[in-house]
Parts: sequence; structure tokens; C-alpha cells
Amino acid sequence: MSIDLRELYQQVILDHQRHPRNFRALAQADRVSRGANPLCGDRVTVYVKLAGAQLSALSFEGVGCAISTASASLMTEHLTGKSLDEAEWLFAAFHALLAENGPQTQDIDSLGKLAVLAGVRRFPARVKCATLPWHTLRAALRGEGRTVSTE
Ligand code: ZN
Repeated sequence: MSIDLRELYQQVILDHQRHPRNFRALAQADRVSRGANPLCGDRVTVYVKLAGAQLSALSFEGVGCAISTASASLMTEHLTGKSLDEAEWLFAAFHALLAENGPQTQDIDSLGKLAVLAGVRRFPARVKCATLPWHTLRAALRGEGRTVSTE
């Protein structure tokens, strides 16, 4: 990855950390789930409003590091309006992105802005920060009431 691209990605992550999108409780959420990453201290609550098989609105609250906050912000932005099937597919694609030998970012156009988090794979301890919001969302979509933990 070129230095310029890396810097651009860094800027997007910082922007989402400082100005998280959809950072609020969703009063009329159909699904709510909580997640925690004890290793880093990240805590997130994900809210989902469904319209049939579509995620019509997503939001989140919580406290966490830059990576977990940016990941939650990007996730809620990217998944709004997507179907449940697309959300499952993106969950898998996002995890593949963060795998040690994951695809190069140019191969994963479908991830859109989520690809800015590809660099996290170089820091294995931070991967759980990036995936926490996604595990929490999946628990919400599956109607699992318990709190999700990365440990
Ligand atoms: Zn973290």
C-alpha cells in the first residue's frame, strides 16, 4: 500500500473517531445488543431497526479506542439500507479483510470505505477492536440477548 493511501485511510479513521456517524441510541430499535472487548476496554451497544429483511437504520453508543469507534461508525454508515443477507456477507468479507493473509484492498471494492480498516491486520491485538461492533451487530440480528465478548 502506498504511503499516500495509508495516510488517506488514517484520515478517514480519525474523522470517524472524532465525528462518529449514527452515534446515538435508537429509540425505536427492533434489536439491541451489547458487546465488550476486555483486552482493550471497548464497550459498544448496537441498535438496529428492521424493515422486513432490510436494515433500515443502525446506530451505536459506547466507549472505546479509535479503532473500535471508527469501525462502529463505518459499519453503521455502510450497512444502513442493506439486506440481512448482505449484512452477513459483509460480516464475512470484513473478517477476511482483517485476516493475516487477507485480500489486498484493491480487490475488495464491495467493502467501500470499510477497506480503510485493512491496515489493522498488521496489529493483531487491535483486530478485536475492529471486529467488536460487527460481532455485536450479528448477535443483535440473531436475537441473542447476551452480551458479546471478544474473550
Ligand atoms: Zn480497542
